Amino acid sequence: MSPVIPIRAEAGGCADAPVLRERGQREVFCGLTGIIWLHRKIQDAFFLVVGSRTCAHLIQSAAGVMIFAEPRFATAIIDERDLAGLADANTELDRVVTRLLERRPDIKMLFLVGSCPSEVIKLDLSRAAQRLSQRFNPGVRVLNYSGSGIETTFTQGEDACLGSLVPVLPASPADAAPELMVVGTLADVVEDQFARLFSQLGIPTRFFPPRQADALPPIGENTRYLLAQPFLGDTARALESRGATRLPAPFPLGVEGTMAWFAAACDAFGVSRERLEEVTRSARERAGAALARQRVQLEGKRIFFFPDSQLEVPLARFLSREMGMGLVEVATPYLHRQHLAEELAMLPADTRLAEGQHVENQLDRCRAAQPDLVVCGLGLANPLEAEGLTTKWAIELVFTPIQGFDQAADLAELFTRPLTRRLKLAA
Ligand code: SF4
Repeated sequence: MSPVIPIRAEAGGCADAPVLRERGQREVFCGLTGIIWLHRKIQDAFFLVVGSRTCAHLIQSAAGVMIFAEPRFATAIIDERDLAGLADANTELDRVVTRLLERRPDIKMLFLVGSCPSEVIKLDLSRAAQRLSQRFNPGVRVLNYSGSGIETTFTQGEDACLGSLVPVLPASPADAAPELMVVGTLADVVEDQFARLFSQLGIPTRFFPPRQADALPPIGENTRYLLAQPFLGDTARALESRGATRLPAPFPLGVEGTMAWFAAACDAFGVSRERLEEVTRSARERAGAALARQRVQLEGKRIFFFPDSQLEVPLARFLSREMGMGLVEVATPYLHRQHLAEELAMLPADTRLAEGQHVENQLDRCRAAQPDLVVCGLGLANPLEAEGLTTKWAIELVFTPIQGFDQAADLAELFTRPLTRRLKLAA
């Protein structure tokens, strides 16, 4: 068993608690995975992975068996070509892009997504994007970011993608009235619910990323933004460099988190708490009743998080405070202290937090603790199940609409389902 740094018990949650930092072998998907949800969101964008056959397999298997007449992602396989040098690789890339855009006039935005193979790393994709943007101007905007497993874990791919979009957002006029920007990919059903609530609250709101490439939200000193996802550190920095101000808030998971998230916007836009209570009353009541049913199954159960999605801290807060679960360990690939400040303050003071991954040490701690439920990646789930532990795949939490009042019970159900399945197997 590996040593664990004891956490001081403190009032005010885990805001200042020491964190176990781990560096070692990781078991996490790379940033290419983000293409799966990003291509559904920006409906006239196309993601061209510049990579290897492995990359092509990864996004195809992560996407499941999807047969599209007009797919919105593909892989330009660069590493297997018999290329004489970089000039050849650039010519080849230009040829693939030209053929794609000639065939697909519906594409308005093209992302060149970098990957791991050394042939790809040598290519300067940002120069390629500039060159191709000029060539296809004004019809298509070509951008680039890295989804490489060397640089990104699976949710960091979205951060890199949105970060690449920030410089092309139009500037809002200096005298524009304050506007809210919700940042982070949300399922359309969730975005529609949030848009309705913000409109009832009288808060002018835009969503980033938008559903259409030509509907990029303007940005400037008048922009107040709320993060909808906890893994957008680089995007946040880029937004702030263009004058936007972050509204500190917990993330919109569970009734409590969603309410606090809306409250942060209401405070910034001068909307009273009474109005917020009134507008959200029926949604909160519905969610509260549905959560009470799920709580019966989760209360008192102990959960262990391996680091995967960066959603771990907000999820742990929801499960501990609204579902009554015990937190054995909450590990996250990267702990953004500033963006998670409100979340950390709400965690029980003795929560064991870990940042980064040393998979063997974490497995040792997990086995020793024998939690009721383990949230982990696909690679760890099968062996742990074989050892008798019950697991939940972290990636499902990213693919499923879980934010907001109306999804709170669906979120809880993602955790009750594996427990119920285990009970049935044992019966
Ligand atoms: Fe491609 Fe690297 Fe991701 Fe593997 S880890 S799929 S090589 S980008």
